Amino acid sequence: MTTPLQRQTLSGQVLLPSGELIPARLEFGHQISAILPDSTAPTHRLILPGFIDTHVHGGSGADAMDGPQAVRTLARFHAAHGTTTLLPTTITNPWENVLAALRGIRQVMDEGGVPGGADIVGAHLEGPFISPGRLGAQPPNTLEPTPERIAEVLALNVVRAVTIAPEVPGALEASFEMARAGVRIGVGHTRADAETVTAFLNALNAVGARTCATHLYNAMGGIEGRIPGPPAALMADAHAYLEVILDNIHVHPGSFRLACAASHRVMLITDAMRAAGLGDGISELGGQRVIVKDGQAHLESGSLAGSLLTMDMALKNAMQAGISLAEASQMASGTPARSLNLSDRGMLEPGLRADLVVLDADLNVLEVYVGGHKVSAEPQTPEPPR
Ligand SMILES: [Zn+2]
Repeated sequence: MTTPLQRQTLSGQVLLPSGELIPARLEFGHQISAILPDSTAPTHRLILPGFIDTHVHGGSGADAMDGPQAVRTLARFHAAHGTTTLLPTTITNPWENVLAALRGIRQVMDEGGVPGGADIVGAHLEGPFISPGRLGAQPPNTLEPTPERIAEVLALNVVRAVTIAPEVPGALEASFEMARAGVRIGVGHTRADAETVTAFLNALNAVGARTCATHLYNAMGGIEGRIPGPPAALMADAHAYLEVILDNIHVHPGSFRLACAASHRVMLITDAMRAAGLGDGISELGGQRVIVKDGQAHLESGSLAGSLLTMDMALKNAMQAGISLAEASQMASGTPARSLNLSDRGMLEPGLRADLVVLDADLNVLEVYVGGHKVSAEPQTPEPPR
């Protein structure tokens, strides 16, 4: 990525960090060099910061657990849908498999990333440090986060986000250790009550850790008047970021709007599995058989098995739920960038990376640039889940 790039320009309606959409010409190499107001810019082309997906298992037949080649495939697939930065996400599995997957992700990063794909800034370790009682679609290979295992993980220098259940023995100590190494701590796949989650978040806030909800509402208790559950504790926290799988299957638009009303830190994620982009058929997740039918992926037990979502569709769904373009873009780019402590991307501003997505008036992806390099925006995947 160090090869010099010709200066390029894009004209259209450019979304500024202020939330204003202005007709402008954007000049860039690897970085954005200028945003120049231009009243002649086409009105039907929207230029937004590229999407940042902090939770994605796979797509186009590939899964992050399969190794480096699969990581490249999923990075290219999601780049075609506007994702310019992502965290390949592991699943709960025997420990050696998890470590092997993390090594594979590290290898791709060490080789300079994925030409034609999204920038990989680390891995999301989703499990095995979760509750055996709230697996969702994760296989029953949960483990406790012992100091030895945390040391093993941190030595690989690849994990940038983790999902952990606060009630698992050793969860807080492990979280302190990982937060010290700059890892975002996600609360998820948990049976904890609201009080336990609040105490966990308060302890982490006190040491300046970045925290989040792993797919808010999914694989955690719900909200009731007398039983607030993890969602209420996470939404009420003054610092926690909130991942949401906005495919209108995992989360109802009304529950999404509640999260948006409660917090400015909602982030869109895909949680996409390998069948994303492939249509109906038989697939696989963490060694389990998955049936994909009518745009939904289920285990044979009936559990939702990840999503078939892409970030462009998540943005559309957010706007259909009544969110403005500026806010939806924040949820897809600016907020996830902050949650990962990435200060070089997430908005359109001179000096930041030229991670760009160009959309038509109906929010379909036209062009995508990762660090100034154009990637091919393939034809769109089959119609979205409804
Ligand atoms: Zn996941």
